[in-house]
Amino acid sequence: MVSVKEKPPLIVDGKRIDGRRPDELRPIRIELGVLKNADGSALVEYGNTKVLAAVYGPREVLPKHIAMTDRAVIRCRYRMLSFSAEERKSPAPSRREIELSKVIREALEPAVMTELYPRTTIDIFIEVLNADGGTRTAGVTAAALALADAGIPMRDLVAGVAVGKVDGVLVLDINEIEDMYGEADMPVAAMPGLNKITLLQLNGVLTPEEFRQALSMALMGIRKIYELQKEALRKKYASTTEE
Ligand code: ADP
Repeated sequence: MVSVKEKPPLIVDGKRIDGRRPDELRPIRIELGVLKNADGSALVEYGNTKVLAAVYGPREVLPKHIAMTDRAVIRCRYRMLSFSAEERKSPAPSRREIELSKVIREALEPAVMTELYPRTTIDIFIEVLNADGGTRTAGVTAAALALADAGIPMRDLVAGVAVGKVDGVLVLDINEIEDMYGEADMPVAAMPGLNKITLLQLNGVLTPEEFRQALSMALMGIRKIYELQKEALRKKYASTTEE
C-alpha cells in the first residue's frame, strides 16, 4: 500500500485512485468452508480487504446464565489481526473493535432464525486478515455466508458495502485512502430479499440529496454482492449433493 502524507487527488479524469469508476465495486472473491473445525466459515475479499468469518453453533451456552429461553444468543467478535494493517495494530481489543463487534452482530441478528434454537449460542468470529477499508461491511458479508455455511436457518442473507464522497464525488466501496482523505464514509448493510437495512452509519458530511443518492448506490452494490453470495452457496451446495 502507498504511504501518503498529503491528500492525493482521489478522482482523475473521472477515475478513482485504483482505476475504478465511481459506481464500481472492487473485485470480490468468496470462498466457503475454509475452516475444518468451524461449523461454518467464509473468506471474503473486497480488493485488498480480506476477512475471515467462522461460526460455531448452535451450541450449549457457557456461562449458562446468559441463555435465553425463547431463542439462541448470538455473540460476535470482530478483530483486526496485528499484521492486517500497515502499521502493526496492537492485539489488545480496542474500543473500535468492541463497538464494531456489536454493530456487526446487530446487522446480522435480524436474519437469523434464533427462535428455532432456544437456550443455545451461535458464536461468530470475524478476523480481519488484511485491512484496506470496508472491513466491517466485508465482515458482515463474510459472517452471513459463514452462518449459511453452518446450516443455520436464515430469513435472508446480509451483505454490506461502504459508500464515500471523495473530491465531491459519491463513490462505491471505498478503500482505505478514500476513507482517510474523503469527505464522507457511509457503511451500509442490508437484507436485499426482505428489503431491509440492518446497518447504516455516516461519518463526514453529506447533503440530504447526496445521502439519498449514497444510499441507493450502496443498495445497488449490496444487491450485486448478494448475487455473488447466493452463487457461492449454490456452487458449494451443488458440488456437495453431487458427491
Ligand atoms: P472499516 O474498515 O469498516 O472501513 P474504519 O472506517 O474504522 O472501518 O477504518 C477504515 C480503514 O482504516 C480500515 O479498513 C483499515 O484499513 C484502517 N484502520 C482502521 N483502524 C485501524 C487500526 N487500528 N490500525 C490500522 N489501520 C486501521
